[in-house]
Amino acid sequence: MNSTRRDFLKAGLAASTALLPLPALAQGGGPRAVVVGGGFAGATCARALRHADPRIAVTLVEANPTFTACPFSNAVIVGLRELSAQQFTYERVAADGVTVTRGMATAVDPQARTVTLADGARLTYDRLVLAPGIDIRWGALAGYDQAAAAQMPHAWQAGDQTLLLRRQLEAMDDGGLVVISAPANPFRCPPGPYERASLIAHYLKTKKPKSKLIVLDAKDAFSKQKLFQAAWAELYPGLLEWVPLSKGGAVTSVEPATRTFVTDFGRHQANVANVIPPQKAGVIAAAAGVADRTGWCPIDPVTFESKLQPRIHVIGDAAIAGAMPKSAFAANSQAKTCAAAVAQLLTGGTPATPKLINTCYSLVAPDYGISVAGVYQPTNGQLADVPGAGGVSPSEAPRATRAAEAVLAEAWFRTITTEVFG
Ligand SMILES: Cc1cc2nc3c(=O)[nH]c(=O)nc-3n(C[C@H](O)[C@H](O)[C@H](O)COP(=O)(O)OP(=O)(O)OC[C@H]3O[C@@H](n4cnc5c(N)ncnc54)[C@H](O)[C@@H]3O)c2cc1C
Repeated sequence: MNSTRRDFLKAGLAASTALLPLPALAQGGGPRAVVVGGGFAGATCARALRHADPRIAVTLVEANPTFTACPFSNAVIVGLRELSAQQFTYERVAADGVTVTRGMATAVDPQARTVTLADGARLTYDRLVLAPGIDIRWGALAGYDQAAAAQMPHAWQAGDQTLLLRRQLEAMDDGGLVVISAPANPFRCPPGPYERASLIAHYLKTKKPKSKLIVLDAKDAFSKQKLFQAAWAELYPGLLEWVPLSKGGAVTSVEPATRTFVTDFGRHQANVANVIPPQKAGVIAAAAGVADRTGWCPIDPVTFESKLQPRIHVIGDAAIAGAMPKSAFAANSQAKTCAAAVAQLLTGGTPATPKLINTCYSLVAPDYGISVAGVYQPTNGQLADVPGAGGVSPSEAPRATRAAEAVLAEAWFRTITTEVFG
């Protein structure tokens, strides 16, 4: 690790420790916080709220009994890992004193400060934290609706879709064509499509070497691009072709019956078609009135309170977090900041100005990892990069360094999932 990265990691740790002062004592009965969504953001936030002040009554509303994590789900798609390694329950979250309520939140009344669940139950709150992740913008790409996802899986919410894409790859004959379409910004996990392309290329190279992979991209630039492209040239020459926007990569429609991608420049009929479609904040955000016309949620960068509705905070992928990418690491970092702020606001204190960190590892092959890291602080009402902090893996590095980063990637996943769910 170079000194810049060591320094910013130290700075980040110091900042996150400084973010967790004990809030002033609440008078009388404990204030009520409701958190919707038990993913990387919501589960972290619910636990951090209890740790910040155990008198805060915290309810976590989550639609599913088991959480299925997206990081490392690309490895599941190519058979390097089982889906069960991605799955976590809420027992430890509940053991921290969080009331875990299974159900789908369907409505929020910001005036009455209530959340309504699909079964009609109603929860009242003093502060609400929405952490619903993403939903697919069905129909935003012509031809791509819920039925189309059964033919052309997105696998951008881990679970059945992940397994469907895996089965399709396994069933494909050697010599087949795999096509991935990547969306315009912003979307969940900026390096994710390129990690997926890399691991699928690895699968094809080792299992079906006569096959080909094309990535049709709605962008001309992407996260860790130089590192990915150098690795592709070394590991997958002639196998993986990336078509950027300026070379006709933007997909204008899809035809699910024939697994066809249509661009202004031509048509690509795939044997396996992975559409990574346009996205938006989880639908409860729009229902609560905290999503703007972009479909995402503008927030105050100190407290993560919505700029559109008071006393409702939005964290994780659903939020517009400035320079911070939509990642599990970022969601976890935002959740701790938000919990500290909400604990202060519920007990008459003043939230501290935060510094947040993010690191995203990607696997280009099972033993070849690369990473990008950043530090962020509120600047002019947005979360902006701290100049000089962060960076990417060195462009010239021996394979031992890449192998070490692949090991670090796994260690990161174990650490974060233990912190959030363990
Ligand atoms: C292929 C892929 C690879 C990735 N790799 C990485 C990686 O290596 N590193 C990294 O940092 N990030 C990675 N990510 C990104 C990461 O998965 C997301 O950024 C992260 O999950 C965001 O956390 P979140 O809490 O906002 O949303 P989620 O983790 O999706 O959690 C949202 C939760 O809210 C629940 N929910 C939604 N709406 C409701 C409702 N109305 N009522 C009740 N519950 C609700 C959902 O069931 C879900 O459990 C990857 C993503 C993908 C797709």
